[in-house]
Amino acid sequence: MITGHCNCGAVQFEITASPTNIYYCHCSICRRYTGANGIPVVVVKNADFAWIKGADLVTTWQNPDADWQAHFCPRCGSSLPGPNDPERMFVPVGALVSGTDDMQIAHHIFTGSKADWDDICDAGQQHDGHIGS
Ligand SMILES: [Zn+2]
Ligand SMILES: [Zn+2]
Repeated sequence: MITGHCNCGAVQFEITASPTNIYYCHCSICRRYTGANGIPVVVVKNADFAWIKGADLVTTWQNPDADWQAHFCPRCGSSLPGPNDPERMFVPVGALVSGTDDMQIAHHIFTGSKADWDDICDAGQQHDGHIGS
């Protein structure tokens, strides 16, 4: 069982699948979202994801210029899971507190727009934009 929560604990969730591939987005929108070099996420089927607490608190912001939505806790500001597509959720790996032992970064995406100071030093495959672009 993989579990996760925001910093204040108002929002908690669990994943019943065992995703191993981490996708790391380095785009400028994700950088502002996290204040870091991007965001690492795992993607799971909707059926394998459940909110335990605080689902009604999750706040979203739609970027008017891109197909991109922020999901966060309005109390503590932590990044939270959201819909990846109609069938799957994306889950920020930094919000997970257990079940991450077998995960590793498999893909870096949008490395074409990564920050100048961002040196990618692991074996994850690098993609200029989306995977396949
Ligand atoms: Zn919170
Ligand atoms: Zn991004």
